[in-house]
Amino acid sequence: MGGKSNKVLVVKFGGSVLSSPEDYLRASDIVRDLLGEGWRVVVVVSAMKGVTDTLLEITYSPRESAGELLGRIAEMHRKVLAGSLDTPYFEKYYLDLSKLLNELAKTVWAIEVLGEVTPRIRDFIVSFGEKLSALIMSSVLEYRGVKSRWLTGGDAGIVTDESYGEAKPLMPETIYRVRDSLYPLLDSGITPVVTGFIGRSMRGNTTTLGRGGSDYSAALIASALEAVEVRFYTNVEGVLSANPSIFPEASTIKKLAIEEAMELSYLGAKRFHPRTFEPLKNSASIARILSFYNPHGPNTVVHGTCDGDNGVKAIIVDDDIAIVNVEGPTMVGRIGTAAEVMSLAWKAGVNIRAISQPISETVITLVLSRSDGDKLASMVEEELKPRGIVENVEVLNDAAAVAVVGCGLSKPEVQGRILDIVKGVEVYGLLRGLRGSSMTIITKPDTALEVARRIHQEVVMGG
Ligand code: ASP
Ligand code: MG
Repeated sequence: MGGKSNKVLVVKFGGSVLSSPEDYLRASDIVRDLLGEGWRVVVVVSAMKGVTDTLLEITYSPRESAGELLGRIAEMHRKVLAGSLDTPYFEKYYLDLSKLLNELAKTVWAIEVLGEVTPRIRDFIVSFGEKLSALIMSSVLEYRGVKSRWLTGGDAGIVTDESYGEAKPLMPETIYRVRDSLYPLLDSGITPVVTGFIGRSMRGNTTTLGRGGSDYSAALIASALEAVEVRFYTNVEGVLSANPSIFPEASTIKKLAIEEAMELSYLGAKRFHPRTFEPLKNSASIARILSFYNPHGPNTVVHGTCDGDNGVKAIIVDDDIAIVNVEGPTMVGRIGTAAEVMSLAWKAGVNIRAISQPISETVITLVLSRSDGDKLASMVEEELKPRGIVENVEVLNDAAAVAVVGCGLSKPEVQGRILDIVKGVEVYGLLRGLRGSSMTIITKPDTALEVARRIHQEVVMGG
């Protein structure tokens, strides 16, 4: 037991590792081991692999394939439950599972009749992925002798606004409520299984926190409970210093500051919800990213801020990039040009990956995903050129981005080492990330690979 019996761990199992009876059994083994070590454990689960996508598809095609997709979801969960449990557990939980599936079917039927889905109903339908998964996880724990109960994120105390599909947790209410709902369970020896991704509005409506939101749920719960750790069990051995299929020498990063983890959330091979690490900023809880299949193997700890950390941790190469240069002396000194260009991107649904403009104001460079380049360029052409606001629009598809992540990048000497490597290379853009914790170099694809290889070898691995 040791002296840890008051200590809380939040463990999160992601959709990428949940798709079979063996997965739920493995997860329950991990939880049992931790309980055996004297931890008090809160489990957070995602929907099974692919389920959220399927549920979303149903809400986007309420008339056509909904029935078939629904059948697939029901079948999948029944199979996993049947494969995980023996009688009498199976009978007991099969009933609960069927109840949930019926409720889902009824709601889908309603939208089929109406031929319309509101964002609120969409969130409600999508929430079934996590609910079904939590029910299975909790029943498998019970089956393995662990007293457990499953709760929705709302039941667990996550209160949000009503921006459906992208709901924002309300603080500090969430903190009070999470403590209020989970501590009594832990105190009575029950291991709660909470649905990730889901919250509840003040008016009681089900909301979702945005794709990948289970990570965020787990971190929120950990910080509210002042847990010692939140553990993300995933299909990789922590966060790697580079993509191993390009750089075989890449290795697991031992420690990331919160700023670095934020920079990497959306860039690395293992993606996190962009707000995942935010709740840990002013909290004593640390995060650990570790392998579901090899939990005692290499892992990454996320803890603390950049203060006192001079490392350069990771490098990412993205060659799915287009550059759009919006040019012309007509833009110089004219207030609102950038706003007009950005709002066109907004209208077109184009995500801007990076932006720059020199102080001469003669050009605005937008870095986009490859498939968005022509789309935005032709809109600028059609809408801003005739009005004399811009003179020329140029699309460069032969580009790539190298992102270097590390607190050390805010230090002149570390910057110097990177710039030394970049010296002599044609650079389209150079940008800095959150509080200097990353640097992005936009260049040609071949050059990007070469520059990345050298930075990885000489700065990241070389220390
Ligand atoms: N199931 C949700 C999604 O696929 C949330 C998550 O997995 O984190 O986005
Ligand atoms: Mg996820």
